[in-house]
Amino acid sequence: MRLSKIKLAGFKSFVDPTTIPFPSNLVGIVGPNGCGKSNTIDAVRWVMGESSAKYLRGDSMEDVIFNGSSSRQPVGQASIELVFDNSDGGLGGEYACYAEIAVRRRVTRDGQSQYFLNGTRCRRRDITDIFLGTGLGPRSYAIIEQGMISRLIEAKPEELRVYLEEAAGISKYKERRRETENRIRHTRENLERLQDLRDEVE
Ligand code: ATP
Repeated sequence: MRLSKIKLAGFKSFVDPTTIPFPSNLVGIVGPNGCGKSNTIDAVRWVMGESSAKYLRGDSMEDVIFNGSSSRQPVGQASIELVFDNSDGGLGGEYACYAEIAVRRRVTRDGQSQYFLNGTRCRRRDITDIFLGTGLGPRSYAIIEQGMISRLIEAKPEELRVYLEEAAGISKYKERRRETENRIRHTRENLERLQDLRDEVE
């Protein structure tokens, strides 16, 4: 699985529809200060489901939408699509058979956020599910930003373990276990309520 292009429109400084191709495994983005290099990384995090404005270097989630410049009016929505080359079947589950996987997120100024997988509307959860254990996610180790190496070196053992578990592919099983434990707990509570009702009726 490899990121092959990013399509941006209305996102931060990328007001016009723009496609950034990633033709090989090693690609460098260079340009003067403020030209939008970090905005492309924010775009990846955002599509992966990042919901904290702070991690996208803004004050509110609306800050991802182009907010105007001296020569352009603000726009009403932002959209990003990440296209992955999945010819190695690296993205698992029901999507393993697709040679290309497109993940898209769109947001409007009224705060409506929508996600799409290969053009079909889906939940945020569907996106996080297929990337869990691949190393790519809103805050995963696939994105190494300024200061992250020193944070890793200084991390407490339990924080470091989270990274190691994601790298080893264990995190998705832990997440499923957590969900299953929650379901069991809810079912137990429902059974207890049912028993209370039975006791009242009898
Ligand atoms: P540096 O090399 O200094 O780190 P950079 O190339 O990484 O710079 P970015 O941080 O990606 O630059 O982009 C910053 C630019 O994006 C600024 O000019 C800022 O005004 C613009 N920008 C950020 N959010 C928005 C927005 N919502 N609408 C319009 N422009 C925006």
